[in-house]
Amino acid sequence: MSSVTQQNGTWIIQSDCLLVRFDPNTLGFTMQREGGRVWRQVADHAHDLTLQRGEERHPVSLESAARKTTLEYRSGDLHGVRTELRGFAGGGRSLDVALALIVAVDQVSDEVVVRVIPIHDRQGNLGEVRYPRPFELDAVGLGVYHLLPSMQGALLPPDWPGEIGWWWIGLCWTRAIYMPIFGALRPGDAYLGILETPYDGGLHLDHPKGGPTKLGPKWHPSRGSLSYPRQVRYALFGDVDHNALIERYREYSRSVGRLKTLETKATEVPNVRKLEGATVAAGYTLYHTQPDSHYYDKEHPERNHNLRSFADSMAGVERLAKAYPNRNVVFHLDGWGTRGYDNLHPDILPPCPEAGGWEGFKAVAEKCRELGWLFATHDNYIDFYRDAATHSDDLSRRNEKREAYGKAWWAGGAQTFLCEKNALGYVRRNYGEILRRGVPLTATYIDVFAIMELMECYHPDHSMTRKECAEARAACFDWVRSQDIVLSSEEPVDWSVPHIEFCYWAPIPQADDLFGGIPVGIPIPLFNQTYHDCLVTPWNLHGGGAITQQDAYLYALSFGGCPLIGAPGREGGIDPVWIEKARILSDVHRQTGFQPIEKHDLLDSSGTKRLTTFGDGKSVEVDFKTGKFRLNGFRRMKKSWQNVPG
Ligand SMILES: [Zn+2]
Repeated sequence: MSSVTQQNGTWIIQSDCLLVRFDPNTLGFTMQREGGRVWRQVADHAHDLTLQRGEERHPVSLESAARKTTLEYRSGDLHGVRTELRGFAGGGRSLDVALALIVAVDQVSDEVVVRVIPIHDRQGNLGEVRYPRPFELDAVGLGVYHLLPSMQGALLPPDWPGEIGWWWIGLCWTRAIYMPIFGALRPGDAYLGILETPYDGGLHLDHPKGGPTKLGPKWHPSRGSLSYPRQVRYALFGDVDHNALIERYREYSRSVGRLKTLETKATEVPNVRKLEGATVAAGYTLYHTQPDSHYYDKEHPERNHNLRSFADSMAGVERLAKAYPNRNVVFHLDGWGTRGYDNLHPDILPPCPEAGGWEGFKAVAEKCRELGWLFATHDNYIDFYRDAATHSDDLSRRNEKREAYGKAWWAGGAQTFLCEKNALGYVRRNYGEILRRGVPLTATYIDVFAIMELMECYHPDHSMTRKECAEARAACFDWVRSQDIVLSSEEPVDWSVPHIEFCYWAPIPQADDLFGGIPVGIPIPLFNQTYHDCLVTPWNLHGGGAITQQDAYLYALSFGGCPLIGAPGREGGIDPVWIEKARILSDVHRQTGFQPIEKHDLLDSSGTKRLTTFGDGKSVEVDFKTGKFRLNGFRRMKKSWQNVPG
């Protein structure tokens, strides 16, 4: 049962175990679960709404609306209040705009739901919205954290000394936000926020060195304005740890169709089975750098062209198969196209003539088939190189000014961006041709389609919202999968989970760059714990920054990763230590790779000791201080504590 009443000007919204107090003047609210403490919002609300007129931007508080009307609101599941806000002053002028806020309890799940609705905005003056305002963590110390969905995820202590910067663009489904969630934990209670309109959603984060942290929803304009209703859900908990929040999000993800398991995927693309206990071995054909690329080496021009022929790759494959027998290897081949890695996309056929052309390429694929390995090509349908045979500004993505924008950064030099709405045509053409020539292509990697932020396009022939962008990328993945090809992309984000089977990696967030600096807060497998049974995540075992090789291995084991190694060529040693590392990790993955991670427990306050429990009860215990790990319940594997090899 729920009730909505007024008391001294405050609206009281109550359900079986929730209490929400909404102030119709400031538009702030508190929320509280029975037995828990009150969650209060930060005092500063000067940036609730950005009003826009032409190039001008004016942040205002929602409190500053000329007229505010609050009434009781009731729908099938919600019971609360609806407030209409009309008329705002921006830049000294009043703007005739209106929006509505619904703050309610969801009687079905006993959670708090907040909706922000643009109801009158003829000129597109309603821009970014940061509402609801961030909830404060009013304590520091043991068990007090924000939950950050950046890359694998982290528990962020409010007084964490570092800064969060380079990857934070605050848009869902980027490195900053692999999954559209956020939350907070403190002794006694916790909440999880879920952005239910994630496509133009995101998070506002402010964490200066030493804190405190402000973390809350941010709604980005869609093609220029707020445009459509946005919604966030808060699940409130009693005394729990992060495991309970992840379990709730997993349940949510299942309800919206994102939780597609590897078992299900294997019924669609049978070769998905070969990802159980997989080792990804990455090789290359040609690294060629154009003179106008950021990476061009003027001092040593000869270094701008580095070839490993298909025959050399094949010799390397044979050597690796001998050194590392009876394994599910995915041979991932970079730079196999006409002029090598990151060149001429999407017109990359025929395969590199200098390396052996169609014949050499096909022979590598056939060798992989003979060994029972998957053969995966590295491909790309975002970068649209100006010297590609079919390059056209008219197929390129256009910005608000309708310009085909670009850069000259990657190896292939000057480029624009292929609009996602034109990508499927190229995907069908290229993969169709490879299959028609009888190349046994069993897997592929479509670069950055998952991790690259969702983009908008303003070309009248193929205009695109962020949601349509995700759908267009998914259509490419799905078409390729329909040809019995196992799909991967670079870093995974959760819109892509139903459309890909594995990724290149899914690292833990580090403060300074991809492999630099200290880990952000206490890293936890927020992403892998949600999706371990849906997606295979190879692991970079090199470490980097403050993450040593030993740490990297323990993270791989306890986050449920599989090994990512370099594929040898015709010559050069194959390091037995790396083979041993890969062997243990892939054996663990062979027995757990399609299982969910049920729990990831921090056995001490700083997370130096951890216990990961998989769906069938097997568990992996790691100790970062001693560099040891222990495998419990695994068949034919050592049961006592052991050192990371090497
Ligand atoms: Zn377009």
